[in-house]
Amino acid sequence: MPVPLHILKTVFGFPAFRGQQEEVIRHVVEGGDALVLMPTGAGKSLCYQVPALCRDGVAIVVSPLIALMQNQVEALNQLGVRAAALNSARSPDEARVIERRMQAGELDLVYVAPERLVLPGFLALLEDCRIALFAIDEAHCVSQWGHDFRPEYLQLALLHERFPSVPRIALTATADGPTRKDIAERLNLQEGRQFIAGFDRPNIRYRIATKNNAREQLARFLEAEHGGPGAESGIVYCLSRAKVEETASWLAGKGYTALAYHAGLDQPVRAANQQRFLREEGIVMVATIAFGMGIDKPDVRFVAHLDLPKSLEAYYQETGRAGRDGLPADAWMAYGLEDVGKLGQFIASSQASDAQKRIERQKLNALLGLCETTRCRRQVLLEYFGEMGHPPCGNCDTCLEPVASFDGTELARKALSC
Ligand code: ADP
Ligand code: MG
Ligand code: ZN
Repeated sequence: MPVPLHILKTVFGFPAFRGQQEEVIRHVVEGGDALVLMPTGAGKSLCYQVPALCRDGVAIVVSPLIALMQNQVEALNQLGVRAAALNSARSPDEARVIERRMQAGELDLVYVAPERLVLPGFLALLEDCRIALFAIDEAHCVSQWGHDFRPEYLQLALLHERFPSVPRIALTATADGPTRKDIAERLNLQEGRQFIAGFDRPNIRYRIATKNNAREQLARFLEAEHGGPGAESGIVYCLSRAKVEETASWLAGKGYTALAYHAGLDQPVRAANQQRFLREEGIVMVATIAFGMGIDKPDVRFVAHLDLPKSLEAYYQETGRAGRDGLPADAWMAYGLEDVGKLGQFIASSQASDAQKRIERQKLNALLGLCETTRCRRQVLLEYFGEMGHPPCGNCDTCLEPVASFDGTELARKALSC
């Protein structure tokens, strides 16, 4: 059996493993189940890609987004790894070719959308293949506590019953206590080992400004900290498509190369904007949360929120796209009580069950806790993910510019209860 470090060097061209990668990989290569919780950018993909090449047979990777699959498969093919993706972008003929290659043992990794994996026909096909492992990427999608719940993920528990001797590795960057427990239970992974990496991203400076003309505030911030138009790459998140469009044109008017990204744009436009953001320097991507999952650009220098994200998990994941290269980066957000009221009403008027609404309210409250704290923001954020005992960081706005305590909590409660 090939040695993991040898694969890392010769196939991926990296000299050494990072953090807990090697431990995870050894565990999976030996046939163990694993739940891997590591922040965005930590290098979770290698945790299943290397074992896929060490173990006999084909690795089946469940992934929720087609764009994400395509990126990974292309990157792997460029490295000479035999990988393919099965999803709705494939014609029936293309899918049949891939399935035949799987059976013939000609593929190392196959990425599959969850809804396809659990089809009886596909499971029967898998019975006919030699399977190296199952990897369940973005595993928080199995949990209603996660912010991207996908009902199809629930059925993945059956993999354990159908293929008891095939190791399973579930990976996510979202792991507050309840989500973690939920993932392990729902995927039937309680027996597996948990690998939990620290969530701190010390190079990210957190700042949350009180909103009062957020666009102007953003422009001033970019001017002061990021060299103004054209200098650095960043992402600006807005809640609505209309606001994405408005903000992109407004920034363009200020001289920025600002592109828009949201689900309402045609696929070719979205793809082109994403490619430009990845390839060119100094582009500001103004986007809804449709943008970002699986985007691997190391030198994103700022992530700005003009509207509140849905939860602290979402905030962590979205801001986590900044500074993956380890160099200083900013997470900047404008926060106003009117947004809180809007989100509160949004929850109240949604079709969700009462239990679901309760969860969403709790999440919104935790987010408000971060916005209104006069403590170190990083401490508050990390405590939410279960990491206690971090000292004040010295690299967030409340550490750098302590303010007289202002108790907005009561106001926020009122806004929420309407
Ligand atoms: P995650 O899924 O945890 O967000 P990825 O698997 O997408 O992270 O990896 C993030 C980046 O880190 C990728 O560019 C990847 O090539 C790089 N990377 C991962 N592990 C290593 C390593 N051991 N050495 C060098 N680069 C690595
Ligand atoms: Mg990933
Ligand atoms: Zn701090």
